[in-house]
Amino acid sequence: MRLLIVGPQGAGKGTQATLLAGNLGIPHVSTGDLFRDNVSRGTELGKRVQQYLDAGDLVPDEVTSDMVAARIAEADAEGGFLLDGFPRSLSQSEWLSQLFAERGIELDAVILLTAPDDVVVGRMLARGRADDTDAAIRRRLDIYHTETTPLIDYYGDKIVTVDGVGQVEDVQQRILSALSADSPS
Ligand code: AMP
Repeated sequence: MRLLIVGPQGAGKGTQATLLAGNLGIPHVSTGDLFRDNVSRGTELGKRVQQYLDAGDLVPDEVTSDMVAARIAEADAEGGFLLDGFPRSLSQSEWLSQLFAERGIELDAVILLTAPDDVVVGRMLARGRADDTDAAIRRRLDIYHTETTPLIDYYGDKIVTVDGVGQVEDVQQRILSALSADSPS
């Protein structure tokens, strides 16, 4: 299966994506994790993107797109993947649609994990990641509302909406049920 997961940071997206990828036997491709891994290893890419991560700003499209194209071309992603954190804007969605068309692959569904702003801000402050300063959290939430929510219209009937509030296992079950209801076979 080729899936995207979209939702505000702090909605439990990373946790749910890791579980879901394990349950479906597909790699979890998180652009945030890939960037942070490059920053911590001190790679050229890491040096280029660190300032954006620290500010909670989006990394420029061409840097992000090249990284995604390379990652989903790896052998383990041939049969499917779960993209987490990408696309985050309409321009990234359009680019991804073109990449899928060029590679002759289809997107199965887009999981939209929802949670109210006050819940996500509380969760982000609690997890204490290095880039989880007050200002960066607010900035990412702003960007989510302005840049990422238009994706809901863009993906139309591919969207599978799941309530992200609740116990981790319950939310995971909701995602699995919603996906199987979406593609009965
Ligand atoms: P995340 O772990 O998804 O919260 O991502 C952490 C940071 O990585 C973001 O605040 C951005 O700086 C950067 N990032 C992750 N995904 C993208 C993307 N699709 N486009 C641009 N920047 C991204």
